[in-house]
This record gives sequence, C-alpha cells and structure tokens, in this order.
Amino acid sequence: MTMMIKVGKLKNVDGSAMPIGFSLNKEELHKDSSLKLAEGDLVFTGTVANRDRVITVSGEIRCVLQGSCDRCGEKVAIPMDVAFHESFTNLSEKCGDDEAEEEGVHLFSGDEIELLPYVEQAVFLSLPMKTLCREDCRGLCPVCGTNLNEKTCSCDKSPIDPRLAVLADLLNKG
Ligand SMILES: [Zn+2]
Ligand SMILES: [Zn+2]
Repeated sequence: MTMMIKVGKLKNVDGSAMPIGFSLNKEELHKDSSLKLAEGDLVFTGTVANRDRVITVSGEIRCVLQGSCDRCGEKVAIPMDVAFHESFTNLSEKCGDDEAEEEGVHLFSGDEIELLPYVEQAVFLSLPMKTLCREDCRGLCPVCGTNLNEKTCSCDKSPIDPRLAVLADLLNKG
C-alpha cells in the first residue's frame, strides 16, 4: 500500500486522465521493497489514463540506488532514470486472465492499483549489467584481498597471463 493509485472515477470514464506523483523516502521504500536507496527519495511522476477502458500508467522513476562494485565490493551509488509504462484492466470477464497477461496487460480489482511492484520491476530491469566504483577500478588482490585502489601489496600475482610470461622471459634474457 505504498504507491496506491485511486482509479475509482477514472476507470468509468473513457478518455479521462490525471497526473500522479509519489515520493518515497528510504524508510517507506525499504519497508515494502528490496530496492535499496543510497540517498534521497524514489520519485515517480507520471499520468494515469483510461484509454478504451484500459488503465495506462506512464511516467518516470528517479532514484539513486545503493549498489556495490563488481571488482572491489565498495559501495556505489547508481543514479537511475527509468521510463515507466504499464497497462491495467479489470475487465477479466471480457477477456480471460491468461489472455490479458499475454498482451502485457495486468489485472486489478476494485478501485485501486498498487504500483510499487511494477515500479520495482522496471527499476530492476534497468539496472546496469556492470557496476564499477570507477572505470579503472583495480579490484582486490586475488591472494590477500587487499583493495588495490587503496594500497598495493607484495603478493606474487604471477603467472598472470602466459603471453605476458613469455614476454617477461624474453626481457630477462635480453
Ligand atoms: Zn571498485
Ligand atoms: Zn595481495
């Protein structure tokens, strides 16, 4: 019950629309979602409309998520700006449940639609494939676990690459 849209009037008037907006702080969001904010609020702004008796919700999600670097594990703030578009119908008697879901139209009942699960999904689908604290993150030493961005260690990390080993041999001989 965190991102509830009231569509009682809207669902009965074809062509009607209204602006919607939500702003959830950390406490509110973390209670009902597995999305973790690094800072600020999760903000949703958009429009809900009745088009041919299908309720469409369009908008934009902005938030800064808490992630961690794939190489060194340090916390990384990930700014997200996600376009949102979902359709809902409560006319389950006209088209079967399966049919509606196949067309990507979600079913709802009553006068309210809880948007949070769909917002959550949209954000997850937009997460970057790779998260790095910085482009040239040196990661952790595979031997001792030292964060190589912060300091160097004296571990013997060879052989790294057989091609490099050959090169090193040649240089030693030269
Ligand atoms: Zn890193
Ligand atoms: Zn080391």
